[in-house]
Amino acid sequence: MERPTVAALSRALRGRELSSRELTRRYLDAIAERDGKINAFVTVTAEQALAAADVADGLLARGAGGPLTGIPFAHKDIFCTRGVRTTCGSKMLENFVAPYDATVVERMAAAGLVMVGKTNMDEFAMGSSNETSYFGPVRNPWDAARSPGGSSGGSAAAVAAGMVPAATGTDTGGSIRQPAALTGITGFKPTYGRVSRYGMIAFASSLDQAGIFTVSAEDAALVIEAMAGFDPRDSTSADVPAPAYSHEILASLEGKRIGVPPEFFDEGLDPDCAARVREALQVFESLGARIVEIPLPHLNLSIPTYYIVAPAECSSNLARFDGVRFGHRAEGVSSLEDLYKRSRQEGFGAEVKRRIMTGTYVLSAGYYDAYYLQALKARRLIADDFRRAFDEVDIIAGPTSPTPAFGLGEKTADPVQMYLNDIYTIAVNLAGLPGVSVPCGLARGLPVGLQLIGPAFAEGTVLNFAHQYQQATDWHLQVPPGMAA
Ligand code: GLN
Repeated sequence: MERPTVAALSRALRGRELSSRELTRRYLDAIAERDGKINAFVTVTAEQALAAADVADGLLARGAGGPLTGIPFAHKDIFCTRGVRTTCGSKMLENFVAPYDATVVERMAAAGLVMVGKTNMDEFAMGSSNETSYFGPVRNPWDAARSPGGSSGGSAAAVAAGMVPAATGTDTGGSIRQPAALTGITGFKPTYGRVSRYGMIAFASSLDQAGIFTVSAEDAALVIEAMAGFDPRDSTSADVPAPAYSHEILASLEGKRIGVPPEFFDEGLDPDCAARVREALQVFESLGARIVEIPLPHLNLSIPTYYIVAPAECSSNLARFDGVRFGHRAEGVSSLEDLYKRSRQEGFGAEVKRRIMTGTYVLSAGYYDAYYLQALKARRLIADDFRRAFDEVDIIAGPTSPTPAFGLGEKTADPVQMYLNDIYTIAVNLAGLPGVSVPCGLARGLPVGLQLIGPAFAEGTVLNFAHQYQQATDWHLQVPPGMAA
């Protein structure tokens, strides 16, 4: 059974084959029917969604609106939404209602998209399995005993289970690509700075990047066109015009070069996953592309580098949650210091505390040079590896995740095992590059993701390769057992 894409739904809406209200109702029904088992949503905004759908129907009736008008979708609960609570998966923000919309929220609403709710996530986007959420783990629609990946596990599971055709995510070290791989959908992370971070709750500001989960790369191109672009309210937003990705994806791959780093096929990679990725490379060859081996010699530094840089930035960003200005406030405190301590102790979960402590340590006097400064140097080496590689090739391909979806609880006891999950995705964030994960087959009945990485601001190239692959295969249209469209 195949599932509808945003592109197909857009045609149906504009051809008046169905109304946005009917479509929205259909997805709200799917959420009511399936989310009790999956736990992908923290908040469902049914009434607001139906009201937004009516506005979209008004536009469509006049032949107005754009390609996304009337399409239902969900936001990861890290994007501030005026009037709807934004929890970031944390007890700290359990009852936080932002007084303003994130730029991404504003832009997607302006494009006519209809938000049906906010999705579950690892607490403050720290995790690879969606098990650090205060609102409970998300279950993988392919096998409810397994994790959908993280930290954007709710968004990935919502799309994979047919509860929305698209959902936003954020990717600091792999949190869009890895859950997309583990749930058999398309997950796209643009170049750092391509999409505004304004109103997106900060984890590690030099790595955080908003992106999108969809069924197809064509859908990702359509939605990213609405999300991307310069924003004067985000000082790291890139003032680079965003091209029409949905045209760029149509180019032929004849004569294009794909770099395959041997470091991606190390002993940690599951043999079935490796086989699926190699099969995908053959599909690209049949489309006229050439495969070249390309080294990324510093890839092995990416996890230790990330686990210094990301906690350092998080320890600074999360200092704002002090029990005074935002979120949870402890009761019956004896002093101001007691208020800070107890609010943070009660409001944050174990993984967030671990990161804050690591980050504070690596930034402290005496350790800064030994850890943080060294990590910045290693980060440069990793970025330079990619720069050199892109002198030779148009795109880099490899696996997204070392294994298919793992069992809930399987890695929670050992944080390092959990961190190793992001071995193939993290370097891309350290270098600030665009990347996508597309489904490329099954291993023992579970989805496998192929990762495609492009040079900075070459989102069109990344999506072009992904789209051409999806024109030649139908893995992205596969639906988990019992989760028909
Ligand atoms: N799994 C990584 C972490 O725990 C990446 C998370 C992310 O990309 N938000 O930090």
